[in-house]
Amino acid sequence: MTHPDGNATIPADPDSPGIGAGGLVLDEPLLWERGRYGRSAVDLPPSGVPHRPLTGPRAGDGPDWPDLSELEVVRHYTRLSTWNFGVDTGMYPLGSCTMKYNPKINETVAALAGFAAAHPLLPDDACQGALAVIYETEKLLAAVSGLAAVSLQPAAGAHGELCGMLMIATYHRHHNTGKTVVLIPDTAHGTNPATAAMCGFTEVKVPVGPDGRMEPETVRRLLDDSVAGIMVTNPNTLGIFESHLPEISRMIHDAGGLVYADGANLNAVMGRVDMGKMGVDVLHFNLHKSMSTPHGGGGPGSGPVAVAESLVPYLPGPRIVHEDGRYRRVDGSALSIGRLHPFYGQFGIFLRAFAYLLSVGNRLRDVSGLAVLNANYLRARLREAYDLPFDTDCMHEVVFTDAKQRGSKVTTLDIAKRLIDLGYHPPTIYFPLVVGGALMIEPTETECKEELDGFVEAMLAIAREAESDPDSLHRAPVLTKVGRLDETLAARKPKLTGD
Ligand SMILES: *Cc1c(COP(=O)(O)O)cnc(C)c1O
Repeated sequence: MTHPDGNATIPADPDSPGIGAGGLVLDEPLLWERGRYGRSAVDLPPSGVPHRPLTGPRAGDGPDWPDLSELEVVRHYTRLSTWNFGVDTGMYPLGSCTMKYNPKINETVAALAGFAAAHPLLPDDACQGALAVIYETEKLLAAVSGLAAVSLQPAAGAHGELCGMLMIATYHRHHNTGKTVVLIPDTAHGTNPATAAMCGFTEVKVPVGPDGRMEPETVRRLLDDSVAGIMVTNPNTLGIFESHLPEISRMIHDAGGLVYADGANLNAVMGRVDMGKMGVDVLHFNLHKSMSTPHGGGGPGSGPVAVAESLVPYLPGPRIVHEDGRYRRVDGSALSIGRLHPFYGQFGIFLRAFAYLLSVGNRLRDVSGLAVLNANYLRARLREAYDLPFDTDCMHEVVFTDAKQRGSKVTTLDIAKRLIDLGYHPPTIYFPLVVGGALMIEPTETECKEELDGFVEAMLAIAREAESDPDSLHRAPVLTKVGRLDETLAARKPKLTGD
């Protein structure tokens, strides 16, 4: 911070309300506004050399950092953290994201010093426990998927897709098939077509049928010699189970193609559905969704892939093998797509997923059962008030639209913003793209009935307000520090400093 007699300091604002302005919901000035020249967190001894200002072409470049005490900095960031909303604060029904509770036992396991302090370059003999965790987690995930082998390397769902589709591309190159087309239903997650394109494939869209499912007839029409495979999100982004997948898989295999399943929605079917028996050749998991590892704030995520026997040689290396009671790392096979991540992937996340899988045990089917029950409960209670574009039993999430409110000029965005005033994080909005004005709600299995009822009451109150006072909804939210934002401007011209 520049000395008050210098030229660049920011003056204290006498009109700034200061802390305590809103009861214990504290206002928070920028650090630049709080800072006072000469304040610091540490007392350094007086300098023994003469003071010389920096000179040269870059002198004076860079931010004029504020001067603050340690306590001011700690309070600033602690207060900001209380403005945050997360699964530990309240229900977070963000469809497609599976924002379920992360049990704290997972954190305890991940923090054990023998794991947390292990160096990834330790020789195998010195990290048998860590290698065992990787090996056993792979085995458990293989059992959940019904597939032959798993690699934990990919660091996110989309990274798992990249891994899976690279394996499919390498498989076709190795077999000289010349196939270049990947079929992708219009209910697939948006990352699917992006991944296919990154791996050099051309996407052909499969329009879904009237009940939101892919139909074998449609796939048959699109199948020809150029089809390298299909990417299916199952359950799909409408929260509907692709019940024709076994037949579709057979058709794809008969045509020499492979089946990729996006398993990010495994939450709905784990413990119940054998993806191997459905004809899936590659599947990715989202540990940060299905297996209750932390999610949000940019990660770290983890997107392991499971493969059928035919693709095992293509898995990324290194792999862990278990022989004569010892765990050992070995390089990938000669056909391997290579390495996708330094070392083994997000090891701290594997520990959390491993702890979760062991603590849930063979009751995994209860997890998916409750996830589906909760979503269907919301569907049943909200179907009078909100339009349901695909009126069929849903899986772990349910998609409504704003069609019933559009007559009074109330949109999905208005509904989402008012939910914030009522204490609920909004669901995913305007996705999936196959329905206009989508409200995609995923309660997850970790919410109890009272919490679901509270959310339902909030949604019903908004539907009533849309009829009685639609204009007021356009102004929501009103109880937040900032109201309706210009989201385009915020994305295009973010203001990140106090200048
Ligand atoms: C979340 C999700 C992804 C992407 O996962 P990331 O970890 O965010 O990369 C892919 N497909 C589906 C169906 C998803 O829900």
